[in-house]
Amino acid sequence: MASSSSPRPYTLPPVGGNPSSAAQGTSPGSFAAPPRVGTPWTFSSPDTPGMPAPSAKTAWDFLPAGWTRGEGGFATPPPGFTPVTQLEHARLGLVTPEMRRVAEREPHLTPEQVRDEVAAGRMVIPANRVHLGYRLDPMAIGRASKTKVNANMGASPIASSTDEEVEKLRWAERWGADTVMDLSTGGNLDATRDAIVRASTVPIGTVPIYSMILGRKIEDLDAETVLKSLDHQARQGVDYFTIHAGVLREHLPFVRRRLIGIVSRGGSLLAKWMIHHGRQNLMYEIWDEICQVMRRFDVTFSIGDGLRPGGLADASDEAQLRELATLGELTERAWRHGVQVMVEGPGHVPFDQIEYNMKLQRTLCHGAPFYVLGPLVTDVFPGYDHITSCIGATAAAYHGAAMLCYVTPKEHLGLPKKDDVKQGCVAYKIAAHAADVALGIPGARDRDDELTKARAALNWEKHFELSFDPDLARAYHDEDLDVDTDFCAMCGHDWCSVRISKEIQQFASGKEGDYAWEKPKVTAALTPEQRAILEQRGVLSPAEIHRLASKTKQAMGAAGGEKAACHSDVTDDDDARRLQEERVAP
Ligand code: SF4
Repeated sequence: MASSSSPRPYTLPPVGGNPSSAAQGTSPGSFAAPPRVGTPWTFSSPDTPGMPAPSAKTAWDFLPAGWTRGEGGFATPPPGFTPVTQLEHARLGLVTPEMRRVAEREPHLTPEQVRDEVAAGRMVIPANRVHLGYRLDPMAIGRASKTKVNANMGASPIASSTDEEVEKLRWAERWGADTVMDLSTGGNLDATRDAIVRASTVPIGTVPIYSMILGRKIEDLDAETVLKSLDHQARQGVDYFTIHAGVLREHLPFVRRRLIGIVSRGGSLLAKWMIHHGRQNLMYEIWDEICQVMRRFDVTFSIGDGLRPGGLADASDEAQLRELATLGELTERAWRHGVQVMVEGPGHVPFDQIEYNMKLQRTLCHGAPFYVLGPLVTDVFPGYDHITSCIGATAAAYHGAAMLCYVTPKEHLGLPKKDDVKQGCVAYKIAAHAADVALGIPGARDRDDELTKARAALNWEKHFELSFDPDLARAYHDEDLDVDTDFCAMCGHDWCSVRISKEIQQFASGKEGDYAWEKPKVTAALTPEQRAILEQRGVLSPAEIHRLASKTKQAMGAAGGEKAACHSDVTDDDDARRLQEERVAP
């Protein structure tokens, strides 16, 4: 028989920095690479052999004309220069209040590390100076910070209103969206945008071309209209703009080979403009003027991927990758104007191609944060694309993405409603968190460890309190068994391995004394939110849900704080079995 002193018949990878800040290496600990803030590989996953290497350049290699980099590592601008953007402050070695706030929200970083990552172009703080005057709570997007999630919303010409969109914004914030994009193409675009910017605590992004073509044909778009419209939205306080300047004329022939052509709205509109005029992409041509508008308000670029693949068959093709190289060139030009940059990415990508896509962006765009949509790893699950894409998003975040744009169950099918926004946010919080744990971001796993302790102690209240969605967890639990005892309805009393483990803990288990509960807790009546969850599921009858919502614990003998009649300490196995048969729904 193997004993604990026998040699292991297997080999563990070297243990990296443990992502939990509380535990000094659980067994076997985390294999994640320790954080390397300030290197080109910040929180990078290991590279599969053959992957593109990180760029040897950073934003420091693309200083504006007339700037020099001094001995101390920071830059000297021409005389009389006044910094405006976070990037300019960082280049001068200045720590802004926004950088301090980011470090407060992400305590594994110091304000100086935030500054240094911003200066290198690997981190952005999307904070329009106008929006800072409202309710914006500054945050950062970059590999050194936690993975962020964006939620899209916006009225379409078919559905929704300004009030509804503001309500969706609040809902997205409630469910953890780190930024929100207003993609309205209908209703009163100006009023909706203004209302969303004023109401939001998170950065707001837009795709300004949508409002530029309102009331005019795309063919009539000219430089003056573009710059005027960008200036207007920047004055309103929008924090980042998606601009599809990387779709070039010479890329268009490659689109012919695709199964589904161009699926980006901005990309398809600009392709039509180029074909009509026989000219280069207008946004590309006036990129330097656009940069000047962005700089005035510190609006961050989210350089759009107008040629992202719209199906697995089109992934990683010439059109997509040539555009990505152009996005790298546009990044360099924006950095020379002192403007912060992130770059957008695909789309629909088979699982095995995701790492390559992330690593290629890291090379071509010199570490500028990658903001990806999904990617979806299969095309045949409409209605479930929050799941198909969250699988791809987890891999993307592990291999290089800094922000994940959520996909809702309504993707490809219609305008997301409130519950779709929640489903999308939750799916993407899972993807982002799973990646952060795997990447070894310090402290990322702490809450997981706390919940595991509560689960081991069968401490249901703590278990639900630590859950991402406590109402859902509580409602699902009480749907089957409306008392907190030392098992749940999944396995029942006799088969509850956690209960049995508690009984043998003296022998083998390391249970946390802090989470042990001496008395079963009388659970409260269902809250209106929990009641609504059970009503929507439709498993219990209205009378049963009413009983749970008006709650008595008499039936289980748990009223008044005494142990429930089915608790192992107060009943024998036969009684417990009989009680659970009476109480647990078949
Ligand atoms: S009954 Fe099963 S699912 Fe429920 S706590 Fe015990 S082991 Fe876990």
